[in-house]
Amino acid sequence: MNFQNNYLLSQVTTLKIGGPAKEFVSVQTEKELIEAITYARQKNLPFLVIGGGSNLLVADEGVEKLVIQNRITGIFQKGNNLIVKSGTILQDLVNFTIEKGLTGINKLTGVPGTVGGAIYGNAGAYGSGISDKLVELICFDPTSEEKVVLKTEECGFGYRDSNFKRNNLIILEANFDLTPGNLEELKKESEEIKRKRDGKYPPGIKCPGSFYKNFVASELSTDVLVNIPKEKIVYGKVPAGALLEMVGAKGDRIDGIEIASYHANLFINNGTGTAKDFYNLAKKYAEKVKQKFGITLEPEVQLINLPPIA
Ligand SMILES: Cc1cc2nc3c(=O)[nH]c(=O)nc-3n(C[C@H](O)[C@H](O)[C@H](O)COP(=O)(O)OP(=O)(O)OC[C@H]3O[C@@H](n4cnc5c(N)ncnc54)[C@H](O)[C@@H]3O)c2cc1C
Repeated sequence: MNFQNNYLLSQVTTLKIGGPAKEFVSVQTEKELIEAITYARQKNLPFLVIGGGSNLLVADEGVEKLVIQNRITGIFQKGNNLIVKSGTILQDLVNFTIEKGLTGINKLTGVPGTVGGAIYGNAGAYGSGISDKLVELICFDPTSEEKVVLKTEECGFGYRDSNFKRNNLIILEANFDLTPGNLEELKKESEEIKRKRDGKYPPGIKCPGSFYKNFVASELSTDVLVNIPKEKIVYGKVPAGALLEMVGAKGDRIDGIEIASYHANLFINNGTGTAKDFYNLAKKYAEKVKQKFGITLEPEVQLINLPPIA
């Protein structure tokens, strides 16, 4: 395995921002993953497993950790069941399901990153979520150094949330139970979604996806809801973008980081942006939203070596 010192994480994040990891290694097999963890233990170095780096804001100072990039891939079909290794690129899984005429994951077409990263954050799009058709997972517990099998209901999935954000389990393998569908319809739907997504996220855009989580309207108090125009509530959610737009976020910028003129929850790096500028711009508008609506925005993106935005 090729352990690299002071590896710039901007090379492996879709935002193209992030300072050096003390050490970095890419792993292709479970054996290598476990060896990398053992290596970190021996060096007394904390470790962080990442997938496609598409949901990360990493500090300009980097991290004093061994960053392990998960490249353990593979899709194995047993009827309508798919056993998928967690480092598999989500789009590869989506393409596989479409080719096999299986529905359940196809609406996630265009969501970057790996299957493991998607499960960690319970990624979703167009009313469909990665956990919808998940049956069980195999994880590695670095504390006991053993594998654990978890049923979907044991994973605490919620809106862009799972227990993996609070435990330190590493997702190794997922078992999905999909439903047979019509191949041509699946292809058509996927192409339509791709077209819509390309409008919002043009290929090559340097961003980590939407920065803040939307709110489930039914979970907000009436004191808060009274200040939010009803037409802003879509599919039972109050989009963070709508709140950010109402406090004037669209088009604002700090140096190389700009908020999209067409989407107030999309912070884009023009190529010269820093994590500091991103953080300060995001914080500025979280404070404005708090002031106007009495509501605390919560990042969907994982902050690495940065203080919480409260
Ligand atoms: C252009 C663009 C569009 C996007 N659109 C959407 C969208 O429509 N819907 C949506 O939900 N998200 C969207 N995202 C966000 C992102 O794509 C998802 O969150 C994605 O699932 C993250 O996967 P990843 O492999 O890149 O994770 P990473 O960014 O590498 O990691 C994210 C977190 O997951 C943890 N993690 C990764 N792998 C594992 C593992 N095997 N075991 C345990 N923990 C792990 C990491 O430690 C980290 O905390 C978008 C992002 C971009 C850049």
